[in-house]
Amino acid sequence: MRYQRPIGTQDVTPEIAPEWRSVEESFRQLAARYGYGELRTPVFEDTDLFLRSVGQETDIASKEMYTFEDRGKRSITLRAEGTAPAVRAYLENHLDRTDKQRLVKLFYVVPIFRYDRPQAGRYRQHHQLGIEAIGSPDPAVDAEVISLAWNFYAQMGLTGIRLLINSVGCPSCAPAYVEKLKQTLAPSLPELCESCRRRYVENPLRMLDCKVDHDRMAAAPKLVEELCDECAAHLQQVLAVLGALGIPYEIDHTIVRGLDYYTKTAFEFQIEGIGAQSALGGGGRYDGLVEKCGGPPTPGVGPGMGLERVLLARQQLGQTLPDDRREGTFIVALGDAVWTEALKLLQDLRLAGLKAEADYRRRSMKAQLRFADSELFAQAIILGENALARGIVGLKDLATGEQVEVARGELLERLK
Ligand code: AMP
Repeated sequence: MRYQRPIGTQDVTPEIAPEWRSVEESFRQLAARYGYGELRTPVFEDTDLFLRSVGQETDIASKEMYTFEDRGKRSITLRAEGTAPAVRAYLENHLDRTDKQRLVKLFYVVPIFRYDRPQAGRYRQHHQLGIEAIGSPDPAVDAEVISLAWNFYAQMGLTGIRLLINSVGCPSCAPAYVEKLKQTLAPSLPELCESCRRRYVENPLRMLDCKVDHDRMAAAPKLVEELCDECAAHLQQVLAVLGALGIPYEIDHTIVRGLDYYTKTAFEFQIEGIGAQSALGGGGRYDGLVEKCGGPPTPGVGPGMGLERVLLARQQLGQTLPDDRREGTFIVALGDAVWTEALKLLQDLRLAGLKAEADYRRRSMKAQLRFADSELFAQAIILGENALARGIVGLKDLATGEQVEVARGELLERLK
C-alpha cells in the first residue's frame, strides 16, 4: 500500500524549500521593517469563531471549512482564514492593554485550509502571508498595509501587478445600496448564473465579483457612488496617500471580497499570466470585527497574500532563485585511515557555523568530487593519509578547479 498526499496539497521537498524560505524570509524582514510583530496562532480554532466572523452565508463558511468534532465533542475548524484568529489572539492576549489608543501591528505566515476545487494555483491547503493593523481608523493605515504588500511584490520581482481598490461602505450606507442592487438585478434574475441567484438571496454584494456575469455586474449600480460622507472621505484619503506614495491603483467597484466583515476599503492585487487564479492577494478594512469577536469597538485593516501564487508568479516570470550559488565544503576522505579524521573535521566545520558534508558511501575520489560539484559545494577538502601525517590537506575550489595545500590548523580560519 503506497499512500499519496491528500488532493490539493503540496509537499515542500528540500529541492524547492529554499525558494519557499526565501519568499517567506523576505516577507518577514519587510514586515519587521514596517514595525509588524510575528503572531503564531493554532492551526485549529473553535468553529464558531469562523462562523461568526466570516459570516454563515459566505463560500468559506457554507462549503469550504474543514470542520470536525474532537474527542471532547467540541466543533473544531482548521484555520480557514487568517484575520479572525488574529483578532481572537489580539483580544485573548490583551495586546491592546498597555495603551487603548495603540495601533497593534501583526504579521503571520500560516497554512490555510479550504475545501475548494483544486486546480493550478488553488489548493486545499495553501499558505498566507498576512498583515493586520488593529486599532486605528486612519486612512493612512489602509495605505500603509497596501504599500507594504505592493512593495513586497515588487521586491519579489513581480511586474505587471494591478492594485484594484473599492469601498464596501459601512452599516450606515451599505444596506441601502444592497437594496438598490437587488432591485436593479431582480428583473434579470432568471438569466443570471446559478451562483448569482443564490447570492441574490444570501450575500447580494458577492454577485458583483461573479466571473460569469461580469459584464452585467460592471454595469450595475456602483457602491462607490452611494457611500456615506464618512466612507467617501475615507476612500479619497486612502487614494490620496497611495498617490503620494507613488502606488498606482484602479478603482474597481466589483471588488467586494468574500467575507462579511469588511467595511470601507476593499482591495485586491492581480497579476496576468499565472492562469485562472490571478488574485495574488487581497484584503480590506474590518472595523466591526473586533466587536463581533467579543471585544470593544476597534477598527482594523489588513491583507492576506497567497504564498503559492507568489511562487507561481515568480516561476512564470523567471524570477526564481538562481540555482548556481555554491556554498559549503565537501570533505573527501581518501582511504579508511583518514575516515575518523574526516568525521572530526566535519563536526568542527559544522560547529563553526559552516555547511559541510562527507560521502558515507566512501566512493572513489573522482566520484566524490563529481558529486560535490553537482551538489554545488563551493570547495572540497581532500584528506590523504600521507599529507595529513605532515599536517596538510588539499583545498580545491570547485568553481575554478584550482587546488592548494593548506595546514590542517589553518583550515577553519581559511574557510571562514
Ligand atoms: P482570501 O483569504 O480568500 O482573501 O485570499 C487571500 C489570498 O490567498 C488570495 O488572493 C490568494 O492569493 C490566496 N488564496 C486564497 N485561496 C487560495 C487557495 N485555495 N489556494 C491558493 N491560494 C489561495
